[in-house]
Amino acid sequence: MSAAITPTVGDPRPGYGLRVRKDGIRTLAVADADCPCGQFSRAASGDVEVESLVISYGRHRRDECPIEAVRVAAERQYAQLQQSLSKRRK
Ligand SMILES: [Zn+2]
Repeated sequence: MSAAITPTVGDPRPGYGLRVRKDGIRTLAVADADCPCGQFSRAASGDVEVESLVISYGRHRRDECPIEAVRVAAERQYAQLQQSLSKRRK
């Protein structure tokens, strides 16, 4: 496993999306996320920061993104998540 934990925002890479990594309990969680619309591109390190990045990325995709296909996909994912959460509660 690579020991590199630097956020990768800014690196050339093929795709968009959210990456989160946490290698073991003694390392900080790191994450970066970017959206094809170009309005959301952030990196975070630290458990709390990563969690809030994940939440705000999800919110951007569902509510704020100017690209309709992104919002539609996010809405679908969100619905599935809600479904699996309510199933687990039973
Ligand atoms: Zn977007």
